[in-house]
Amino acid sequence: MNRLSKEDLAQMNRDYFQSLDKQKLVEVAGNLHKLAVEQLEKLEQNSSNSSLPPSSDQFKSKEKSGLHQEEQTPHSESQTEPKQEDKVVSESREKPKSKGFALKKPGKQPGAKGIWRTAPLVPNQTISHYPKTCASCNSGLEIDQQAKPHMGYYVLELEKLESGIEVKCTLHHYYQATCTCGHQTKEKPLVGYVSVVEGRSRDLSLQEYGLVGPMLATFIASVAIRYRMSRPKIRELLNDWVGVSLSVGTIDRCIREVGIACSPVVEELIEQLQSSEIIHLDETPWYEKGKYRWLILADWDAVVACFYHPQLPATNNEAERALRHAVIARRISYGTRTTEGSLAYCSVLSVIETCRLRKVDPWGYIAMVLTQARKGIKHPPIPVAS
Ligand SMILES: [Zn+2]
Repeated sequence: MNRLSKEDLAQMNRDYFQSLDKQKLVEVAGNLHKLAVEQLEKLEQNSSNSSLPPSSDQFKSKEKSGLHQEEQTPHSESQTEPKQEDKVVSESREKPKSKGFALKKPGKQPGAKGIWRTAPLVPNQTISHYPKTCASCNSGLEIDQQAKPHMGYYVLELEKLESGIEVKCTLHHYYQATCTCGHQTKEKPLVGYVSVVEGRSRDLSLQEYGLVGPMLATFIASVAIRYRMSRPKIRELLNDWVGVSLSVGTIDRCIREVGIACSPVVEELIEQLQSSEIIHLDETPWYEKGKYRWLILADWDAVVACFYHPQLPATNNEAERALRHAVIARRISYGTRTTEGSLAYCSVLSVIETCRLRKVDPWGYIAMVLTQARKGIKHPPIPVAS
């Protein structure tokens, strides 16, 4: 069933409710009640009681403290506003000094000339998406062949062939339909998790709407994390060998998306780990924006290997070997910049190593996890060793 959107709610008013018969009115009330319950539950969610990544907690606490501030000073707006501005300015001035980092932000600098696509993409196929039921009263909707799409976007997706790979371009068209009750329902691409980092200008939202398909995004993440290639080098590789032209920003976004999508999988692995009998544990230093952190890799399969195979020596070698990859990555990249980045890196590393030990294709599984995450659906369970 469709979820009521802002647009759907804007269409509803007293006249609309009065025009409905009792049965439809009950359906509409049911949908509105469902939305209200969902929103209330969402407000109470955090990383400890849901699959939300811990980075989203910062946003919630910030939101709460923001509300608190407003509640505290409702009558002195003119006084508080300049104070808050002062605070922001002084923070942004102090931060780089204390960290010893350059003042320049990473990525495109303000005023720098942008780069954009010179030739339009040519789709191999077009997929049409029609609304199936009325978002307001749940009645079935008929496909209007005359209708024009209200939105469309291209997706580049990588396909694994029997021998080799291919990147295909698909054009997605979204349509709207009008119900007998008078409500107009628009079909839209789904939206999944939103990752929030304090101070970042735009939140990272996992959603179906985007140029890079889940398998191509996973391929990009594999080249970055497993094969340790820099973002500009990946751009060159895609352009020269696969014929796909992507910006460094888009490539970076794909790697982050894969990391965020993998973090709930790791939470599940940790649960399995806690119930296991033997644990191989190792750790290695890691830098986050120049600060010293620790990466701990605790893989369940490495952990129970000698439990299932008594002939194996109960040594720490599995964990040592699994962490070797992170040690090399640290020496090349000098770590990550944010908590989100660190969490993303170690999540993907844990999923890859676990899949490898379980003799499962990690990339096929990760692409599936990302597909679900972009729709806001829980990840499929990580396959067990066969
Ligand atoms: Zn309707």
